[in-house]
Amino acid sequence: MKLLVVILISLYGSILFQERDRHTRARNQMVDSQIAARGITHQGTLQAMRKVPRHIFVPPSSVSEAYSDRPLPIGYNQTISQPFIVAYMTELSRPARGKKALEIGTGSGYQAAVLAELVDTVYTIEIVPELARESAARLKILGYGNIVVRYGDGYKGWPEHAPFDIILVTAAADHIPQPLKDQLAEGGRLVMPVGDPATVQQLIVLTKRKGEITEQRLEPVRFVPLKRLK
Ligand code: SAH
Repeated sequence: MKLLVVILISLYGSILFQERDRHTRARNQMVDSQIAARGITHQGTLQAMRKVPRHIFVPPSSVSEAYSDRPLPIGYNQTISQPFIVAYMTELSRPARGKKALEIGTGSGYQAAVLAELVDTVYTIEIVPELARESAARLKILGYGNIVVRYGDGYKGWPEHAPFDIILVTAAADHIPQPLKDQLAEGGRLVMPVGDPATVQQLIVLTKRKGEITEQRLEPVRFVPLKRLK
């Protein structure tokens, strides 16, 4: 009987390990073929993308597609961004130790986790209460003690914790909210998709130097719309 229990436990353990190895292989392949091959060179970003278990951030029915080259539905009409876009926005934000980041649009919590591998603290706001709750629980289980999730309308930012060295907006609007510009630290960078929320937007990077904001316009992208609380 004892022997049977031991055999069953070790069998279960080896299945779990095989599962983990399979995901690790898929993740490394994702980074090689979708991210490094397309020009992301920042080593920290590549390492974070190799580390964060994306399959834990997607619904159970999408686990087999977790490492594929596209966004995936996460419920409530929302999506987890395509892996390349997460890596690209992370690299553009110039993450480093000592920095404080704000993310608008927690969604699954995946982008927050990638960023949290590289900066000191990530504050993240989500407007769908269920997603805010689920992501906070998921990030806690995964041990991300440096991410603070809050339910609310991110348009107004998070003044209590401002200024931020990095602001990532992962939902689209036709303009950059003024409160977010105001909450950007000196030398800080804000990355956001700006344009028609119903069709295509352009990725914008704002940089604040000596209080002056400069704008850089990059690739066309497609994000879900930034909503407003009534
Ligand atoms: N960064 C997410 C994906 C973002 S999808 C991830 O890694 O999974 C965009 C998210 O922004 C959605 O979850 C949507 O509910 C949220 N959102 C939309 N408008 C918002 C607002 N005003 N404030 C905060 N979150 C918002």
